[in-house]
Amino acid sequence: MNENLHYVCPHCHSTNRVPVSKLSEHPTCGHCKEALITGSPVALNTDSFSRHVMRSQFPVVVDFWAPWCGPCQSMAPAFAEAAERLKLTAQLCKLDTEAYPQAAAPYGIRSIPTMVVFREGQEIARVSGAMPAGEIERWVISVL
Ligand code: ZN
Repeated sequence: MNENLHYVCPHCHSTNRVPVSKLSEHPTCGHCKEALITGSPVALNTDSFSRHVMRSQFPVVVDFWAPWCGPCQSMAPAFAEAAERLKLTAQLCKLDTEAYPQAAAPYGIRSIPTMVVFREGQEIARVSGAMPAGEIERWVISVL
């Protein structure tokens, strides 16, 4: 398959065009030269949130969380583990809803943690409540 897709760099947040067949070959960013696929959650702010959600053609999973939320804190290692397991399936990102409420507002997040799967700017699934890594992985795969 020689199809290209737009993949947003987790470091400088610029959009890269990557052949789908090269995703597993450690592609690097054309702008900052860093690895595009890190297997780690990407911490977003208001600006980078919209870049990743709106411009990426690779599925994006956003964990809407807040520092004061106990279940969010306890899910963080599971989400990081899922980011590694799912790195060739989706880009896992985190949005601190306390620091960047304006990014979360359009999505009407009522409880946290809430995870939302986006594909090309469209929400395709969401789930609320903390989950272990294996469950996050199965859920993401099941909705894509
Ligand atoms: Zn970059």
